[in-house]
Amino acid sequence: MVNDNLEIKTICPDAEKSLFTIESTESDIQRETEAFAAVTSDQHNTLPRIKILGTGGTIASKGADSSQTAGYHVDLSIQELLESIPDISGVCQIEYEQLCNVDSKDINEEILLRIYKGISDSLQSFDGIVITHGTDTLAETAFFIESTIDFGDLPVVFVGSMRPSTSVSADGPMNLYQAICIAADSKSRGRGVLVSLNDQVSAGYYITKTNANSLDSFNVRQGYLGNFFNNEVHYYYPPVKPLGCHKFKLRLEEYMPTPRFPEVCIIYAHQSVDPELVDLVAKRYKGLVIATMGAGSLPKAVNERCLAQTIPIVYSKRSMDGMVPNVNLPHPLEEKTSNVIASGYLSPEKSRILLQLCLTKSYTIQEARNVFYGVYGG
Ligand code: ASP
Repeated sequence: MVNDNLEIKTICPDAEKSLFTIESTESDIQRETEAFAAVTSDQHNTLPRIKILGTGGTIASKGADSSQTAGYHVDLSIQELLESIPDISGVCQIEYEQLCNVDSKDINEEILLRIYKGISDSLQSFDGIVITHGTDTLAETAFFIESTIDFGDLPVVFVGSMRPSTSVSADGPMNLYQAICIAADSKSRGRGVLVSLNDQVSAGYYITKTNANSLDSFNVRQGYLGNFFNNEVHYYYPPVKPLGCHKFKLRLEEYMPTPRFPEVCIIYAHQSVDPELVDLVAKRYKGLVIATMGAGSLPKAVNERCLAQTIPIVYSKRSMDGMVPNVNLPHPLEEKTSNVIASGYLSPEKSRILLQLCLTKSYTIQEARNVFYGVYGG
């Protein structure tokens, strides 16, 4: 086997007629081998340290055969998942932890806080964090983390997949490989929570799953930040974080032993929507979000039921893009005394989390309105 560590020197100044000899003695060989090992390990030690937190989802799922892309189940550990990606040892040093292994429909507040703790605990000792997650509710967790953790410039990257690990052309390994490269890349610093999927890098604060099946599933206009191609991440803009994102300071002990946030319900409006639904929800929940029909439009009877409640009610939208402006809210009362809030650009599910966080901090309705004002609502 060729030993690249040994220096080969000529003992004859005339290279044409030279005899070449290996000048190293046994002890030289030993010394040089040790020096080489030290340099290699130093190089390795200077690589970014990336923490990978596994939570489950399709990316960690197996189907019965390679053509199955529905009806599969979560069955792959984060370690097995990492074994399926290309060698990453030249890019970064990794450590991994399995926080849970569930389909993301089962992510509740207890798991959300586990993810919160997993990320918070890794902030000091790692250069980047990757979280594997089911795509169905990935945007909610990403939004929650952006709203609750001050991680400075550290890249926090969420990743999932649309096809199970067993399928032909499974997208999970490539998505995970890209997410780790993105987390390890200094160009990803200072950009807030990122989502890596289908070669795209997006902002976790805004991105939403827009297609229930396709690989190109995350597709919201405010979301795209860059592209990943052939081992490189290309950002379209300099580092920037979501404007007006309110950071809530959570104290974990406040949510133990039963991690619960004040309950907020979402009503999806439609033609002939029953106004009494608002009364029913108001009796049982601490807050309500309505996916209104357009930019805040609801039948007069529903608006009246909303304004008659004392709980905060956020007007969001059924449409994937666009916003609900403050001026479209029903305004029979003084704004100060009104309980309705516009969601701005936030989807109903992100509005729900934001309202829960406001309620968990016992914000008044006016204070909650100021928080929503950050995303052009209020
Ligand atoms: N059912 C999956 C989930 O855990 C969907 C996915 O990951 O793509 O959200």
